[in-house]
Amino acid sequence: MITNKQLADIIFPDIKETIDDLEKRYPERNLPEGAEVTRFAPSPTGFLHTGSLFTSLICRKVATQSKGIFYVRLEDTDTKREIQGSGEQLLSQLKIFNIVPDEGYLGDHDEGQYGPYVQSKRANIYRVAIKYLIEKGRAYPCFCSPEELEEIRRDQEKNKQNPGYYGEYAKCARLTNEERVERIQKGEPFVIRFRSTGNHLNKIKVNDLVHGDFEIAQNDQDIVIYKSDGLPTYHFAHCVDDHFMRTTTVIRGEEWISSLPIHVELFEAMGWKAPRYAHLPVIMKVDEATGNKRKLSKRLDSEAAVSYFLEDGYPPEALIMYLMTIANSNFEEWIFANKFEHMEDFVFSFSKMSLEGALFDIGKLNFFAREILVKKSKEEIYKTALEYSQKYNPELLDLIERNPKYFMDIMNIEREKENPRKDYEKYGNLPELIGFFYEDRYNNIIKNPLPFNEKFTKEVISETLSALRDGLSYDLDEQNWFANMKAIGGSHGFAANNKEYKANPEAFKGTIGDVAELLRITLTGRKNSPNLYYVMQILGKAECDRRINLVISLLK
Ligand code: GLU
Repeated sequence: MITNKQLADIIFPDIKETIDDLEKRYPERNLPEGAEVTRFAPSPTGFLHTGSLFTSLICRKVATQSKGIFYVRLEDTDTKREIQGSGEQLLSQLKIFNIVPDEGYLGDHDEGQYGPYVQSKRANIYRVAIKYLIEKGRAYPCFCSPEELEEIRRDQEKNKQNPGYYGEYAKCARLTNEERVERIQKGEPFVIRFRSTGNHLNKIKVNDLVHGDFEIAQNDQDIVIYKSDGLPTYHFAHCVDDHFMRTTTVIRGEEWISSLPIHVELFEAMGWKAPRYAHLPVIMKVDEATGNKRKLSKRLDSEAAVSYFLEDGYPPEALIMYLMTIANSNFEEWIFANKFEHMEDFVFSFSKMSLEGALFDIGKLNFFAREILVKKSKEEIYKTALEYSQKYNPELLDLIERNPKYFMDIMNIEREKENPRKDYEKYGNLPELIGFFYEDRYNNIIKNPLPFNEKFTKEVISETLSALRDGLSYDLDEQNWFANMKAIGGSHGFAANNKEYKANPEAFKGTIGDVAELLRITLTGRKNSPNLYYVMQILGKAECDRRINLVISLLK
């Protein structure tokens, strides 16, 4: 008779290490009371998802707050889905958001005593653990072919049974060790399955830091824990790695809640204490086609990828601030009170996290972004806009490089004052917003019809513009300049204010507001622009006159 121990030795003859050896190699961490060890465990299968940035933000925060450790582990066991280089990219993107791990996989190298931190380099560690489970009778080789598994699935469907490999359907669970060894020696391919002792009809109690206590059906599935390529599956790797890396709190997306019964049983079978879990709500959006809420989708939504915000030139701090409002309901009030500064001082708590998936709100992100950009000096704006445009936006780079001082002057309009204007939320749309300051771009803009108010005839517009061209002084301060414009408007039939106009609308062509709008549209091509006084100061009289003449000639 072949014992489980002998079976384990036949399957893993080279594995001499034991669980005890690993316990010694990866001892409990020596950290202060209450310190949390958290991890971000991305798979290198593509870009950094906005949801993953959210998770890693919380991981970093929880570790920092408790004087613990935050590390990164690269989960690359699904070799078919791996995209070369994406691991490095994930790490460099996290860094842009100032999320820097204390240890682990750092992109180009590992750091820390609990490594390797890349799962494909941990194959022998998993083998030690799997060998142990085989010896204990809690794991066995399964020889079922894809066709056999498909047949089982069809049977289950027909009999209205739960799908999966369990109970009576788990036929390899019932092989004798002699049969197993014979098939292995014949060279039949196999995977290793966990032997569950659970029953789907029983409920287990679990605790989650976000969701509190709840009951969930016990696991009864003999899941695959070791694939024929020699690597473990996610479930098993999670259990082994979070144990030996001494994670105290597993923070991950809500989609993993349904796997919790598997994880609970795996930890029990290994004889280990499971970590605490915090399953974070998923970020949702309203589907434009159906009007229903759904998870942000990699395929459908550009805002699902963190790179979208970087490419669009959002200040990274804004996205972090925005994600924090999703994380804790009291954050928004706190950051207002703290004037959008020092968010590192905010104390995060799982109990203040909403259970409902948060709806992604680009309006709110824009709001934070404006608050952040308005605080930057013109030199900081120049530096960050330059860095951004060098990486992502040649059009903006061209404008900045033509004349850095000119760019800074534009961006400085009404910036250095008590209540600065919050005109900008990102750098990506700057060419569109400030393009009119540049002659060639202005000349292109006015090839299209200008958005003048239709109540004014071409003659009235031309007349008013000529009067402004000839009468408006460039040597006055803002207040006197405006008075100057009022006077010119007055002598051409425009009321000095709304009140005057409303009292006797027949007597006027319009108001001073209309005059300013005519001039603004003429000089910028837009109905909205930064403060017109400063726009004119920056453009200078010669260029303003040129523009006015050009528009008048187009009106003819
Ligand atoms: N590799 C898994 C993922 O990318 C990690 C989940 C976890 O944090 O445990 O979804």
